[in-house]
Amino acid sequence: MHFPDATSSPTRRGKSGHKPFADMAFLGGTVHVLDEGRRVAQALAVIGDTIAAVGSKSEVEGWIGPETKIISTEGRAVLPGINDAHLHAVWFGAQWPRLMFESSDVGWHSRLLCSEQDRIAAIRKAWQELARLGITSYTEPGIGPGEDDGETGCFGTAVLETYASLAGSREQTARVTLLRLFGYLDGPSSIDDYRRGLETPAPSADSRWLSIPGVKIFADGIPPMRTAWTNEPYRDGGHGALLTGDGNEQERLCDFRTMVSMAHERGLQVAVHATGDRTIEEFISVVEKLGGAERLGHYVIHGDLITREQIERLKSARMGIALQPLIADQTADWLAKAVSEATVKQAWPMDKLVGNALNAILSSDAPVASPDWRRVIASAALQLERRDVVVDEGILTELLRMYTAIPAIQDGAADWKGTLEVGKVADICVLEHDPLAIGASALPNIEVDMTMVGGRIVHERAIN
Ligand SMILES: [Zn+2]
Repeated sequence: MHFPDATSSPTRRGKSGHKPFADMAFLGGTVHVLDEGRRVAQALAVIGDTIAAVGSKSEVEGWIGPETKIISTEGRAVLPGINDAHLHAVWFGAQWPRLMFESSDVGWHSRLLCSEQDRIAAIRKAWQELARLGITSYTEPGIGPGEDDGETGCFGTAVLETYASLAGSREQTARVTLLRLFGYLDGPSSIDDYRRGLETPAPSADSRWLSIPGVKIFADGIPPMRTAWTNEPYRDGGHGALLTGDGNEQERLCDFRTMVSMAHERGLQVAVHATGDRTIEEFISVVEKLGGAERLGHYVIHGDLITREQIERLKSARMGIALQPLIADQTADWLAKAVSEATVKQAWPMDKLVGNALNAILSSDAPVASPDWRRVIASAALQLERRDVVVDEGILTELLRMYTAIPAIQDGAADWKGTLEVGKVADICVLEHDPLAIGASALPNIEVDMTMVGGRIVHERAIN
C-alpha cells in the first residue's frame, strides 16, 4: 500500500465561487471523531494542514476534485493522532530500543548525550519511532536547569534549546508540549532554584510545534520504593516525604505550596509528580485555595494512591491526572511488598477514573515503560475488567479519548487538535482494523497503517 504525500499537490480550486477541492480524502472506513458526541463518520477530507470535511461518503465526495488523492480506508479505522502526555522523548530516543522495565538495569545512569549532535540524533530517533506508532503529540515532562549536570544529559537546558531549534522544521513529526523542571528529575528541588527558574524566560517557538505551558514539580517518590508520601505507613514503617526543599515535614510542605502558587500566579500550568495520597491531598488543597485550576489545567502525574474522595475533588477543582497503566502492571508485585493488601487493592483506581467526566489521560512514561499506546490501552482495559467493569464499545471509546481528545485539553489546545472535527489540524492515525470491532485485548496486534501530522504523511506501513 502506498499513501501519496498530501503536500505534493497544491490545493486546486473548483470553478470560481466554488469551495476548494480537498488535497486528500479518506473514504470507506470508520472515522472515529472522538469528539464529545462520540461521533462516528465514514469519510474525511483534508486541505493543506487542516480537516476540511468529516461525514458520510457522499458528503465528503463533494470535496473531491481531479487532483484529490483518494485513500481507501475500507476495513480500517481513522483516528485522531495519538497524544502521549507523559513521554520522555529525548531519553527514549537516546535509550532506544531499550525500555527500563523490559531490559537490564545497566546503563540507565550513564552519560548518553554529550553534544548538540547527540541531542538532535536522540530527538530524531524518538520522532521516527513515535511516528510509526501513530503518535502525533507528546508531553516532554521535565526539562530544565535542575538537570544541567544530570548524569544522562537527557534533561538539561541544552535539550530545551535543541527542541527550540528544531521546532516547526520539516523533520518534526510530533507536536511537543514541554514542562520545565527547576530541580532534579525524580529528585529534590529548592525554592531558590525554582524561583530563579521561573524568572528565566523560556525560548519562544511556534506554539503549535513547541509549547511550554508550565512546570513540573517532583513532589515525592514512588510507593514501591517507599518514597511516596503516604498516610498509611509502609510495611516496614515510614511514610515517605516531600522532595521540595530539605527542611522538616512542615517546611517542605510550605515550600511545596509556595511552588504551586508561584507558578499558578504567573499563569503557568503545574504538573506535579504525586504518587502518595498525602502528596495528592496537599496538591489538591493548594489548588482549591487558589480557586481551582481553571484554564491552566494543573494535573497530577501518576497518582498511584489517589483516593475516591480525592478523585471527586480533582474534578471539582478542574484538575487532571496523567495515568500510566503499564507502570501499574509492571510494578504491581513490587508494590505488594511495600504496602498493605488493602492499599494494593485501591491503588490505580482505573474504574473511578475512566468515564468520570474527569480530565484523566493515559500515557506511557517511556522509556520507563513501552510507548506503545495500544499496549497501554489493552492494559487499562484489563485493569478495568479486574474491577468488574465491562469494557464495551463505550468504555473503549473513552480509553481512546484519553489518548487523543483529553490530552489536547490538558495541552490547552482542544480548539485546534485532539479530535477529527472540521477546522482542526489534520493529525491522523490510520489503523489496520477498527479497535471497536476487535476489542481492547486485540488492539496491540493491529498495525498502524499511516500517521499524518498537519496534513503531511510521516509514516506509512509497507505491505509486501
Ligand atoms: Zn516520567
